[in-house]
Amino acid sequence: MDLGLHGRTALVCAASKGLGRAVAFALAREGVSLVISARGAEALNATAEAIRAETGARVRVAPGDITTEAGQEAALAAAGEPDILITNAGGPPPGDFRDFTQAQWLAAVQANMLTPIALMRAVIDGMIERRFGRIVNITSASVKSPIPSLSLSNGARAGLTGFVGGVAREVARHNVTINNLLPGPFLTDRLRANAQAAAQAAGRTADEEIFRRAQSNPTQRVGTPEEFGDACAFLCAAQSGYIVGQNILIDGGAFNASFN
Ligand code: NAP
Repeated sequence: MDLGLHGRTALVCAASKGLGRAVAFALAREGVSLVISARGAEALNATAEAIRAETGARVRVAPGDITTEAGQEAALAAAGEPDILITNAGGPPPGDFRDFTQAQWLAAVQANMLTPIALMRAVIDGMIERRFGRIVNITSASVKSPIPSLSLSNGARAGLTGFVGGVAREVARHNVTINNLLPGPFLTDRLRANAQAAAQAAGRTADEEIFRRAQSNPTQRVGTPEEFGDACAFLCAAQSGYIVGQNILIDGGAFNASFN
């Protein structure tokens, strides 16, 4: 299926590794020119080079912390007027909510709620004018099914979800869509780090922990970043203009409900 994206431009945030990287690859394969961001310049440049080599796409890098004003400005300056915005950032740390400080809460809200809102605010009027825009926020399955140890994520991302629910309906008539993609367990550095912490507490290895998680999923596996990237690219397709304001779980069916 041709997603009708040849010649489009995208800003993909937090894309040197993991899910963001996979989304960048998937869009590049569809002929989209990219700006990708991350803090670590070395991995970011390596990813940019890998995407260019595999797809021939134009890829520029915007090194910096996307949760800061300076990082956002750098990414937006490099991206110009993107047709596609993928918001993403590192997830907050796990822990007991009693131990989180005010500063940690503010950092989580900044990273996982206010940063995507600031980026959407910056690009949305241009998308409306051009009558094409696709925005996908990478959030988490924890929005629908809260994970007790990830209270920072549960709380901050719920705020973003509420915001998107309203604004997505406001801009849809201009062929600008906003949707949230909610990953369950995907095999990335983030999953490995979380598994490592849980495994240590339970006296297991990280691999054993990941295996246990995979076994408890209806698919009996964890997701691959590539399948996440392809699903995200589909939401950005020219043909996806009628998918509006959705919170789409990609979790192998882990969320157990007759209706989502
Ligand atoms: P990952 O493999 O650790 O990759 C994170 C990427 O984001 C890296 O490229 C990292 O590069 C970049 N990044 C992190 N903080 C950044 C910042 N402040 N500014 C710019 N770039 C930043 O993580 P992932 O698994 O892809 O997760 C992506 C998002 O999905 C996270 O919010 C995570 O909580 C959420 N999620 C993941 C899963 C899963 O199973 N993987 C499940 C649910 C939710 P630098 O470190 O160099 O900046």
